[in-house]
Amino acid sequence: MTFETLGLPARILKNLAEMGISDPSPIQAKAIPLAMEGRDVMGLAQTGTGKTAAFGLPIVSKLLRLEGRPDPKSVRGLVLAPTRELAGQIRDNLRAYAEGTSLRINLVVGGAGINGQINRLQRGTDVLVATPGRLIDLLDRRAVRLDKAKFLVLDEADQMLDLGFIHALRRIAPLLPKERQTMLFSATMPKQMAELSEAYLTDAVRVET
Ligand code: AMP
Repeated sequence: MTFETLGLPARILKNLAEMGISDPSPIQAKAIPLAMEGRDVMGLAQTGTGKTAAFGLPIVSKLLRLEGRPDPKSVRGLVLAPTRELAGQIRDNLRAYAEGTSLRINLVVGGAGINGQINRLQRGTDVLVATPGRLIDLLDRRAVRLDKAKFLVLDEADQMLDLGFIHALRRIAPLLPKERQTMLFSATMPKQMAELSEAYLTDAVRVET
């Protein structure tokens, strides 16, 4: 299997080739076709398996096909990650896949100035990569809205539970439209994951490496 057969736009294929990424990893080969079909995905995958591209390539591809621009303060895709470092890496990867397109990919994490983040959100965002705590802060300040989001990713969901983000995640879930596509990735499946998958996923397909 190659990325050409997965139905990704030409510009993304070009970017992948320039990044030296030519063959899908096992998790990508399983998850990308399902995600391109619009299915919710529950992925059991460790870091280093290529899971960022497994969720990132379908989202970026589908956003490129949407009409118009995101509304002010709105996000069209949301990626939640447990740590600033991981969120920053995801943002960098998504920007590399979307290089040369008009997609706006923003990062909001704690420890960085909030005013710059509020200003960048004002123009509307295609993919927002966020840690849950800072996202809640920005929601409370009415700096961002999630009611137009079509795509949601929970990355390293087990780490988010371990870090005590369950309360934040409970608050965020009802702010997104029910009609959306959700992908949840986790290295382990602790018992508490049942609540998360119940709240976030609809008829999900499970994929493993
Ligand atoms: P991740 O598991 O998403 O953190 O990715 C781990 C590393 O593998 C990153 O440096 C990616 O750029 C790289 N990578 C992701 N997918 C592929 C692929 N299909 N072929 C080669 N490298 C990849």
